[in-house]
Amino acid sequence: MKKSMLLIAMLAIAAIVSACGQGTSAPKEKSDKLQVVATYSIVYDIVNNVGGDLVQVHSLAPIGSNPHQYDPLPADVALTTDADAVFYNGLNLEEGNAWFTKLMETAGKSGEDAPVFRVSEGVVPMLLNSKEHKGEEDPHAWLDARNGIKYAENVRDALIKVDPKNADSYTKNADAYIAQLEVVHEEIMDKMSQIPEERRILVTSEGAFKYFTAAYDVRAAFIWEINSHNEGTPEQLTSIISIINEEDVPALFLETSVDPRSMEMVSRETKVPIHGKIFTDSLGAPGEDGDTYIKLLQWNTDMIYSGLKK
Ligand SMILES: [Zn+2]
Repeated sequence: MKKSMLLIAMLAIAAIVSACGQGTSAPKEKSDKLQVVATYSIVYDIVNNVGGDLVQVHSLAPIGSNPHQYDPLPADVALTTDADAVFYNGLNLEEGNAWFTKLMETAGKSGEDAPVFRVSEGVVPMLLNSKEHKGEEDPHAWLDARNGIKYAENVRDALIKVDPKNADSYTKNADAYIAQLEVVHEEIMDKMSQIPEERRILVTSEGAFKYFTAAYDVRAAFIWEINSHNEGTPEQLTSIISIINEEDVPALFLETSVDPRSMEMVSRETKVPIHGKIFTDSLGAPGEDGDTYIKLLQWNTDMIYSGLKK
């Protein structure tokens, strides 16, 4: 009796140990799915939609973080090394501290034939204007839904290249997803056009809305131009405060992936309220607002509409 109890206990321990082992080594296990790495959560979601059940996607910069500057973890390096495909935004997004270039070198994916794909291929780049960044590309193309469609097409073509036997599935998934994005694009156009023109001005911390404001006929003002900063300089704060005081700005907005303190100070100084949060460089956490690229676009549209329309 005692002996059999001991045996059961030992078996139970063995089972636990082996379960733990499986847990930690799971990413290395060869599954049937295509192993894919995306640099941040928005591209992660687009790849998931186009790849469907055929892909297992890992986002490098986690939800809520700033993909302009990221320090890859050892697990990121391992997953990137083993990946069948790597997707990145390009347009200067992942180059804040050259983290992506360095990661590709470390992971042995810097060669010309490496399966590394820029999802913004074919997007007409808009350029930064501030004196520090003049002439550099602005990465935030995904905030124009038509560019999201380009991203989805590029992801489809890349997945077909890496995994041609499933071309039909990728094409079908992409078609369905692009049809949804076309509807969202129309929704954004429609909502923005209902805001009276003099109130159609979007004030954010980072100037991430160049593509959005050009696409949907909205004016933009910001504290700093790109998220290689995380707080406004005294000069930048003075400048945005005087713009807000000159214009009829009904509301200010706070991005989820930036430090809120500068915008809070601008709100105190100008007495213009912060209307709510919007998403730029990251999705919302799973199960929360803006947890997919499409929901992010819709959330931003509703928030901007309700803040500016009167
Ligand atoms: Zn950004």
